[in-house]
Amino acid sequence: MGELAASIAHEVNQPLSAVIINGNACRRWLGGASPNLEEARDAVGRIIEEGNRASEVISEIRSFVKKSPPHKEEVDINALILETIGLVRGEIIRNQVVQLTDMAADLPPVYGDRIQLEQVLLNLIMNAIEAMHAVAERPRELLVGSQWQDDAQGVLVSVRDSGSGLEALDQEQVFDAFFTTKPEGMGMGLSLGRSTITAHGGRLWAGPNPDYGTTFNFTVPAHV
Ligand code: ADP
Repeated sequence: MGELAASIAHEVNQPLSAVIINGNACRRWLGGASPNLEEARDAVGRIIEEGNRASEVISEIRSFVKKSPPHKEEVDINALILETIGLVRGEIIRNQVVQLTDMAADLPPVYGDRIQLEQVLLNLIMNAIEAMHAVAERPRELLVGSQWQDDAQGVLVSVRDSGSGLEALDQEQVFDAFFTTKPEGMGMGLSLGRSTITAHGGRLWAGPNPDYGTTFNFTVPAHV
């Protein structure tokens, strides 16, 4: 139960933070001598989107508790990548991160649970952004890529950052439940992410970049 409670807190906290960030932005756009209604409307749109996401997460957890099977369907990974980046655009700008994508064209759809895969990717991207907080002497670069991988008979998604690199003793430790190096961290994201990807028949792993930072990779089998 403790682990479940922690995971609920983790998964719901991300959309809630986004609601607060966008709420504050909205208040700023409405303030002052000439309020910017267009920006305010956009911020409210994002609040609704994030609110919906939080409620989807909760219904997802409810169905997980009921042990119903994940809702699997054909998922266009590139569309999912773009949608997920859209959700964190504010964080990317606020942290002065240069965000790049390198997505293969003509990938077949993968077979998976859309919401669960989005959660995994969102957590990897948020971790990457957080790992670059302290970087000042080089560009903060986030590269999200997709490519076909023959071995996995599926799509490989990678999230590369130019951050601090892994502080963990080894690359596996970061996947332990409750392992965190952040003062406010829960240490559940990567452990949940790995169980999600394993349940999809894929793999999630991490490795250091040749120069700086870390790359997290996961595979998801294609629908055959
Ligand atoms: P949390 O983000 O709550 O700490 P996670 O399970 O998502 O939980 O991550 C566990 C730990 O793995 C982090 O606290 C951090 O030490 C390490 N980590 C995750 N992603 C990265 C990254 N991109 N670069 C460096 N360290 C990372």
